[in-house]
Amino acid sequence: MSKRKVVYSDKYDVDIGAHVFPTKKYKLVCERLLREGLLEEEDLESPHAASEEDMLLVHSQEYLNKLKTGTLSFEEIFKLEMPYSKEIVRASYLCVSGTIMACGIALDKGVGIHIGGGFHHAFRDHGEGLCVLNDIAIAIRKAIKAGRVARVMTIDCDLHQGNGTADIFSDDDEVFTFSIHQQNNYPFYKPKSNLDIGLDDYTGDKIYLNKLKRHIPKIISDFRPQLVFYVAGADPYKNDQIGNLALTIEGLKERDEFIFETSRNFNVPIAVVLAGGYAADIRDTVTIHFNTVKAALEYGRFQVGGNG
Ligand SMILES: [Zn+2]
Repeated sequence: MSKRKVVYSDKYDVDIGAHVFPTKKYKLVCERLLREGLLEEEDLESPHAASEEDMLLVHSQEYLNKLKTGTLSFEEIFKLEMPYSKEIVRASYLCVSGTIMACGIALDKGVGIHIGGGFHHAFRDHGEGLCVLNDIAIAIRKAIKAGRVARVMTIDCDLHQGNGTADIFSDDDEVFTFSIHQQNNYPFYKPKSNLDIGLDDYTGDKIYLNKLKRHIPKIISDFRPQLVFYVAGADPYKNDQIGNLALTIEGLKERDEFIFETSRNFNVPIAVVLAGGYAADIRDTVTIHFNTVKAALEYGRFQVGGNG
């Protein structure tokens, strides 16, 4: 039996027309991992659609009904920044299931990798900014409800602040939300995370990495999470089309390695989801995500597992 388990579905590649969101990136990342021998076909696990019960751990019945029946208002679709289709809803349900699976794998084996997920702008009762359902929040609530963990930390390194996740867990002592993001960018209203680091435009590798090094070990040491949820956005990249941070591919790789190493030092299981990435050249986005998965697999080799 294969030791590695990585969650992925080719159904994430949904046609949404000409759009800045490159849904084919998941497939490209996966193909590259296979091509370079980091994964074999048998390592890939496909999710089945998550249940309504799982969705209700975070989302309102009213919102789920609107998604299912295609009755979102014009404003709601506008906020989502994507055309509505049943296919997108289906892919979003599948993606929630994928993140739940990655979370379970993390708790069983020390590291859980989802080549997908990270839809941190989805709120309880509406979607926003390309995010229909908050897979991160649902997976966390499910793991807590099942009694697998009592304290979870989200480390959200996407360029955009994790507004949906912050709002969903705002009154929840079991979840510590951390977000490092470009301050002057969407979302313009930023509900408070437990710790937010808003960066100036054009912040580069050095300042970014220094901030992580200053804060991450301290918050892990203070909060003592039993699971870290790493939201490894590729959009802090300097050539991103919708972001204005200035990290290099090398800097982002260092970021990933630092997060995994720090988790290893504290012996905390880690689940990773890919989140955003809109580089002018999609090959750069693919390289950044590829490096994240590579770092995660590397981490997995040294991880003995356990709930910490
Ligand atoms: Zn983003």
